[in-house]
Order: sequence, then C-alpha cells, then structure tokens
Amino acid sequence: MKVEVISLFPEFVEQVVKVGIPRKALDCGALQFNARDLRNYSDGADRRVDDRPYGGGPGMVMEPGPLSDAIAAAKTAIGSSAKVIAMSPQGIPMTQALMKALSAEPGLILICGRYEGLDERVTPQIDLEVSLGDFVLSGGELAAMVLVDAVARLLPGVLGHEGSAEADSFSAGLLDHPHYTRPPLWRDAPVPDVLLSGDHAKIARWRLKQALGATFLKRPDLIEKLDLSRTHAELLREFLSEHSGEKNQASK
Ligand code: SAH
Repeated sequence: MKVEVISLFPEFVEQVVKVGIPRKALDCGALQFNARDLRNYSDGADRRVDDRPYGGGPGMVMEPGPLSDAIAAAKTAIGSSAKVIAMSPQGIPMTQALMKALSAEPGLILICGRYEGLDERVTPQIDLEVSLGDFVLSGGELAAMVLVDAVARLLPGVLGHEGSAEADSFSAGLLDHPHYTRPPLWRDAPVPDVLLSGDHAKIARWRLKQALGATFLKRPDLIEKLDLSRTHAELLREFLSEHSGEKNQASK
C-alpha cells in the first residue's frame, strides 16, 4: 500500500514509520510512505498556506489552492485511484472495520488540517472524512499517524503468524482474551492451569470464554450488537457464573 500524508509538519508525521510494526511494514515493502510538506505548495514567497476567514471570527483557514495542488502531486506520485481522506472531527469514527477496509486500498492520501480547518471548496476532492473521536485536536497529524499504525499492521505479511491480527480486540466483534507469560507464579498469582495444559482445544475454548466475558463486562454495547450462537451464549453464562462477584465496569 502507498500512503501519502499532506501536512504542515511532515517531520512529525514521519515518526509513525520510524519504529515498531509500521517501520517493519516499510522495511518489508508492504508499505510505501511519504509525508508531503504542504508549504511547498504555497503560492507566496512567505510559504503561507492559511488566511483569515471570510465572515470574520477567530482563527485561520487553510487555503484551497495549496491543498488542491498537494493532492494532485500526491496522486501523481502514488496513482489517481488513491483514496483522499481528510482527518476531521466531523468524519466517520475510526474502527477496526474501517481500518480493515482501508488496508485493502492500493493508496491513501491523508490530509492533516490545522487552524480552523480546510476551505470548504476542497470538499469535492475528498473521498472520506475520518475522525479519531469526539474531541477536537489542534491538528490532523496525530489522527493520521493513528490511522497509518492501525492500517500498517493489517497489511499482508506484516504481522507474523504468532502476531496474527485475527485474535485482536474487535476483529470478531469481541475484545481480546487475557494474556500471560513467564513466570508461571508471580507474587502469589498463578497463570491459569488450562494455559499450561498443552490441550489446544481446551485453551481455545477458555480464551473464547474470556473474550466473551471481557466484552460483556467492559463493552456491553459490543455484545448487544452480536448475534451470539448457542455455544457462545453458553460460554458467556459459564464465565458469568465463575465471575459472579465482578461488577459491570460500564456501570461503575
Ligand atoms: N473547526 C474544526 C476543527 C479544526 S481542528 C471543527 O470544529 O470541525 C484542526 C484540524 O485538526 C482539523 O482540520 C482536523 O484535520 C484535525 N482534527 C481535529 N480533531 C480531530 C479529530 N477528532 N479527528 C481527526 N482529526 C481531527
């Protein structure tokens, strides 16, 4: 996948591919990444890309000209079929399903706003607005970096078998099961016996039960969206009878 990020702070955005899984995605060729400096498309010698809002009021607005030229240049670099995404608090929320869908795209062009946002007239050049959540950031860079991280780990060949994304939270509409590593006994807390049993069917059943239980306790809204099979409902009942003293975290 080819990703272009258009920003006033390209050196900040680049940090996302400097470490960890996104770096690995870059190194193995699954991801091609470029941060494009919007100031290079300023039409003035002062490299400004913002101006005062018509109608008055506080703040500045990003001019349509430089943005449009930067999008065109990004398309020339990675192909005109690339999806143009504006980072915006008004966009659709980032979810694992969205990340999965975006990871199948050949190219993404992410636009990071600053100030009060983009001049409305660039809207026809934007395919999608995406939000990090219902709060306002000072710029789109962190949201774009989050998107790149979440998408990079889903690209084919990036996560090894043992790091498969399929068991992660949200992949099957459930949160992930708990994880344990050595030592087997730590400060009087043992690792659950089943995980040491070597019985893979039993381990899979236990993990699914824990995933159902964790989702029920922490994110009841996710459980409500699922059409639980009889086996899943039975496992959840079993979990709840084993954890009858625990409170629903959402109601705390
Ligand atoms: N006046 C705008 C907010 C501008 S904030 C409004 O209220 O809708 C400046 C920039 O930060 C935005 O253009 C956007 O690119 C980015 N941004 C702010 N909050 C964001 C969020 N929740 N998700 C993604 N990007 C966001």
